[in-house]
Amino acid sequence: MTSVQHPLDLLLTGVTAITGDPATGIMEDAAIGISDGRIAHLAPVSAGLPAAERTLHRPGRLVTPGFVNAHLHAVLVMVRGVAADLGFAPSYTPGVPKGTDATPEEARALARLGVAEALLSGSTLVCDHFVHAEATLEAVAELGLRVHAGWRVHDVDFARVPQGEWRFDAGIGEDLLRRTLDLHDRWHGALNGRIAVQMAAHAPDTCSPGFLRTLAAEASARGMRVNTHLAQSRVEVERVRASTGLSPAALLEETGMLNERLLATHCLYVDDDDIARLARAGVHAVHVPKCNAASGRLAPTPALKAAGVNLALCTDTQHGDMVETMRWALATARIGQGGVSADWQPADVFRMATLGGAEAVGMADRIGTLTVGKCADLVVFDSRRPHLRPQTNPLGTLVHTGQGRDVEMVMVDGEVLVEDGRLPRADLERICIEADEAARALWARA
Ligand SMILES: [Zn+2]
Repeated sequence: MTSVQHPLDLLLTGVTAITGDPATGIMEDAAIGISDGRIAHLAPVSAGLPAAERTLHRPGRLVTPGFVNAHLHAVLVMVRGVAADLGFAPSYTPGVPKGTDATPEEARALARLGVAEALLSGSTLVCDHFVHAEATLEAVAELGLRVHAGWRVHDVDFARVPQGEWRFDAGIGEDLLRRTLDLHDRWHGALNGRIAVQMAAHAPDTCSPGFLRTLAAEASARGMRVNTHLAQSRVEVERVRASTGLSPAALLEETGMLNERLLATHCLYVDDDDIARLARAGVHAVHVPKCNAASGRLAPTPALKAAGVNLALCTDTQHGDMVETMRWALATARIGQGGVSADWQPADVFRMATLGGAEAVGMADRIGTLTVGKCADLVVFDSRRPHLRPQTNPLGTLVHTGQGRDVEMVMVDGEVLVEDGRLPRADLERICIEADEAARALWARA
């Protein structure tokens, strides 16, 4: 279990480890040791404790791998409490402020709140895409978590989309692609590998077929992950069918986008042929259960899972609590199936939030489970609280009644980024005030 020569940097003892590793499962009264940013020891306390520089005895806590929030637009905290009731994504909706309306300073302030909230709720990796990616990436990187960022890339003139007009402009596409590649040159692999840059191709209806081919070729040449919205709406499906005769998934296949580097978010309006396409190509489906359910829709996650598609989980424009999101994923899959089955249990949605996301971003060998040798990206929940007791089934209790605000500590590479539910590296009060001010200014101008 352990082969360390020198004292560990940190040892957590007395915890219940929900490892997500099939070989280990759930370990009660566990000791988790960290050395050089890696998990160096994972064993029951009864097996004996290795020497450590710092030991934290934490009985009554659950420890999980860090959550991977595979698709997020942190700046869209600006439409919180409103957009979910308008029936469609904010970018397509008139009368609400857009990311393009924000100044870089406003985007920075809003993104910091969105990402701080995700981190406080246990996300150790977020895929965050929108306009002003350069400014927001710089601001959120300070918080210390893993950020896989990208510019929102499209060649449609988005200013006309809320009015129902899809007009493509090669200049817009070229500019956004150039910004993406610049961001990739400057940031990919930065901060000891905590930062990565993805190609955030917006959607099959907002990128023309020729532009999709260009994006696929650039992403392939650089080995970039591509994070897109796929089959998010009937509007998208009808637009793509009318102009190409294809379903959105078939268009992505035709333009070279469908492969194991693609994270396809939503997958709401996919038929059996589309699902077979996604499975064949090794695409990762990023599920957005809370946004979708709030819009009155369910993604066919049972069919995607049955076809062998890897499923990841995200919060998109909703608030960044992956614990709550696991619960929505479980409930909505069961609504889709019409009952409770062995295929949809707490362990399945926990996998989506951890290892499924790690696979989607290409990091399953380093993160996603509590396993000796992997990065010490982990979350400590205070499970002494009334709603988390009794602990008859720790994982079932976490998924069904846990909340992001039960998080006590978060680490990335063994570095403590959340302690006692606070951010030692940032002034949370200031983050909230600045985001409030930015949102107020944006709504006043909208
Ligand atoms: Zn999105």
